[in-house]
Amino acid sequence: MNEELYREIKSNKQYNPQMHSAEHILNQTMVRMFNCGRSFSNHVEKKKSKCDYHFNRNLTEDEVQLINSKVNEVILQDLIVKEEFYTKNEAQEKFNLSRLPEDAGEKVRVIKIGDYDACPCSGLHVKDTKEIGNFRIISTDFKEGVLRVRFKLQGGKV
Ligand SMILES: [Zn+2]
Repeated sequence: MNEELYREIKSNKQYNPQMHSAEHILNQTMVRMFNCGRSFSNHVEKKKSKCDYHFNRNLTEDEVQLINSKVNEVILQDLIVKEEFYTKNEAQEKFNLSRLPEDAGEKVRVIKIGDYDACPCSGLHVKDTKEIGNFRIISTDFKEGVLRVRFKLQGGKV
């Protein structure tokens, strides 16, 4: 990966690999449950994070609980998080590259979380999902085709 970018991410104290890895799992869970696509915009910070999805309504309380249990079930499986590299052409066939930076280069880095999720990404991640801690959605709201999901983590390894 781009060394400069790597240093930049690392020097940002707000950046939190636990939160960011949880975002990957949340995205895959949303895709599996609602077929809605991964979040198109997000703000990931140590204290709390939010992800926005193209959607058609707010979530019910039952759905929120279901997402919480599914994400925590994945975290508790102790899945290994690893990186794999693909050429741009290979990656284009397998993944959605719409959020890949223009200057990503010829090799595309894909982050795999066990067999649960695979997504092109240049960020920093945990090595094992149990480092993430407990995942909890704190609120959701819906406005003009956008579902916003806010969440926190507790008890992860820092
Ligand atoms: Zn990532």
